[in-house]
Amino acid sequence: MPELKNLMISVSGVRGIIGDGLTPEVALHFAQAYGSQFGPGRIVVGRDSRVTGELVKYAVWAGLLSTGCDVVDIGMATTPTTAMATERAENAGGIIITASHNPREWNALKLLARDGLFLSPEAGAEILERVRQQDFRFVAWDKVGRVIPHPAAAKEHLDAVAGLELVDVDLIRKRRFRVVADPCNGAGGTILPQLFDRLGCEAFFLNLEPHGRFPRSPEPLAANLGELCAAVTAHGADLGIAVDPDVDRLALVSNRGIPLGEEYTLGLATDFVLSHTPGEVAVNASTSLVIDDIAARYGSRVHRTPVGEIHVATKARTTGAVIAGEGNGGVIYPALHLGRDAIVGIALVLQSLAEKEKSLAELQSDLPQYVMVKDKIALPFDADAKAMVARLIQKHAGDKVDLTDGLKFLYDHAWVHIRASNTEPIIRVIAEARSEEEARRRVDALKQEFASLQ
Ligand code: MG
Repeated sequence: MPELKNLMISVSGVRGIIGDGLTPEVALHFAQAYGSQFGPGRIVVGRDSRVTGELVKYAVWAGLLSTGCDVVDIGMATTPTTAMATERAENAGGIIITASHNPREWNALKLLARDGLFLSPEAGAEILERVRQQDFRFVAWDKVGRVIPHPAAAKEHLDAVAGLELVDVDLIRKRRFRVVADPCNGAGGTILPQLFDRLGCEAFFLNLEPHGRFPRSPEPLAANLGELCAAVTAHGADLGIAVDPDVDRLALVSNRGIPLGEEYTLGLATDFVLSHTPGEVAVNASTSLVIDDIAARYGSRVHRTPVGEIHVATKARTTGAVIAGEGNGGVIYPALHLGRDAIVGIALVLQSLAEKEKSLAELQSDLPQYVMVKDKIALPFDADAKAMVARLIQKHAGDKVDLTDGLKFLYDHAWVHIRASNTEPIIRVIAEARSEEEARRRVDALKQEFASLQ
């Protein structure tokens, strides 16, 4: 059995640095466990543009084929494209090979359930137990699976977005939006040109080729988008668009060349969807108060969940939410599917711009104004981040705090939140307030208190 160290193992899969934790053997064993659990049947496999994508792909294929599963090969694809392909009735599951916004030396397996959502915590625990116990169900040579090429997944994804009731392709095309997009040499390079072509946009690209050698930190944070901002100004564009390497997070730059901040992506989508479709909203515990204030305008209720797409998606399903997501640019539009999807996020934002006949800067200024400060505390791989946060929770036992995920203190138009990351060996400390000064002060105070307990 391969050593399971230097890996981030969570309910949604396994992440690590290739050659230092995530080896072909680890990928093989997780795929064998997955195939043993959900096979035999057709398993969709997509991958992002990482340099190690092929290496991991063939290990995953071998694991699935050896347990009697057929591989539906959709090639290089975004996470939402893979999820939508998975939920088709003829498929039994899906695996996405991507480390999302992690640096380029990382890769990962994200494991999906038959319905296209990430695995539930229980199903994820079963996979991990199979890996630990080496509990695999191999089939005889004449029962091994086959590889079924399915190159149409991106087109099917785009067809579904264009077919949404709220998306009027003709109206968007009439506006001939000028957009600059930066997919950071990730999987977005395979689908964004097709999207803009269909929506009649005049598109300019930075870092388009999907070769996986990310030229900057691939997380679409405002601090990483300097080149995009300059390009928006230089081209006189209506907006700038940044997606992470697997295209489930979307960040926008206004027509003035200023990043809106990731939180405003979901804010814009929420305002637009609620203005057409009254209903409930589901977001995670770290998502901006912008959402609460918008929901209040429409008399909508906001449900909060622990951080992690599966929690938000499950809550969206049980509440019948009309819009959901995570403040880090992850828009979930349940009318399409229950997964974070930058492609549908772009379509909703362009539709909103087309209908309101306002600039993106004007649309943002119509939304509630808050400032968020996101900080983190780096830990070694083997640190027990949850136990460290638990000490702080214990100290505040009896205080009026929110324990949805980690520990969150709520104030008037402000909050500060500390929690262990699910995907990296870090603790996240995030605050939001009306002013940057207040948010920074709350982050610093909480970090200091945390440090004093360790
Ligand atoms: Mg991602």
